[in-house]
Amino acid sequence: PDRITTPERTSEDADAALRPKTLDEFIGQQAARENLRVFVGAAKSRGEALDHVLLHGPPGLGKTTLAGILAREMGVGFRATSGPVIAKSGDLAALLTNLEDGDVLFIDEIHRLNPAVEEVLYPAMEDRALDLMIGEGPSARSVRIDLPRFTLVGATTRQGLLTTPLRDRFGIPVRLNFYTIEELEMVVRRAARLLGAGLTDDGAREIARRSRGTPRIAGRLLRRVRDFAHASGADTIDADVADKALSRLEIDALGLDAMDRRYLTMIADLYGGGPVGIETLAAGLSEPRDTLEDVIEPFLIQLGLIARTARGRCLNGRGYTHLGLPAPQGSQS
Ligand code: ADP
Repeated sequence: PDRITTPERTSEDADAALRPKTLDEFIGQQAARENLRVFVGAAKSRGEALDHVLLHGPPGLGKTTLAGILAREMGVGFRATSGPVIAKSGDLAALLTNLEDGDVLFIDEIHRLNPAVEEVLYPAMEDRALDLMIGEGPSARSVRIDLPRFTLVGATTRQGLLTTPLRDRFGIPVRLNFYTIEELEMVVRRAARLLGAGLTDDGAREIARRSRGTPRIAGRLLRRVRDFAHASGADTIDADVADKALSRLEIDALGLDAMDRRYLTMIADLYGGGPVGIETLAAGLSEPRDTLEDVIEPFLIQLGLIARTARGRCLNGRGYTHLGLPAPQGSQS
């Protein structure tokens, strides 16, 4: 949890202050952005609520931000909650009946809804209806209440974590990808402007290169680098200042942190490069399997350092090179 590069939200995060507020301000994810622009425009011109949207992708890529932007672009209210917070079906029923016409209801970690709560969502999403049970035992009966028009925006790290009936009820599935270094440079420059931090172009590039493809991490690294710059009396962050600060935070040239390197080293040293099962790695690293699958692995796969195979995880030639180890004969590059 105190990994500096963890893309998950932490309480001290100034995420909210840096959030873009419109589709135009939102950097990157061009295909997703252009599609959403079309769907928002069409819904508005027909005077309808936007169809339900499922945002999926690793943490910190802008799902919450996009949900808020959709509400703003539609000109409707925004309510946010998350799967694990909705304990009982009554809690969800209360949320739904309190919505105003057209509102966006954002449910983060929607794959973690309990099944009884999820059942309430089906008729709500499909028919804008809530089926309530009144009474108990033989005299119990079900009453159907109409709900206001609303758009459910669900967010999840992996689309495959959703049950099929839930997934099928989203008209607009949107996949978010890791950002390019150029896009992250724009994210860093924008954040520096908002924070009033002095930053050179090569300073922005250095932070962008080491942000694990993730805007949330870019914002966090910028704040930490700025702290180091202050401490050393530098008033502008250039590549040299950024490099020194990031090295002290043990973030390497690819943006990997100590945890990423432990993961790679374990496969190399203990399992001869793999394949090794995810449960074995989780136990060895004392990290929940979900964290490995949702946070650590996607970026290592993106970089081509590891591969996920049916028999387990394997270290690629590139993974060996990054660790400064010779790749064994016959390993994949
Ligand atoms: P998620 O919900 O996917 O975990 P968030 O929407 O909370 O991610 O985004 C994390 C932070 O990253 C936000 O504070 C926001 O400042 C920044 N961010 C995300 N996407 C972008 C973007 N496309 N452009 C600029 N900043 C972004």
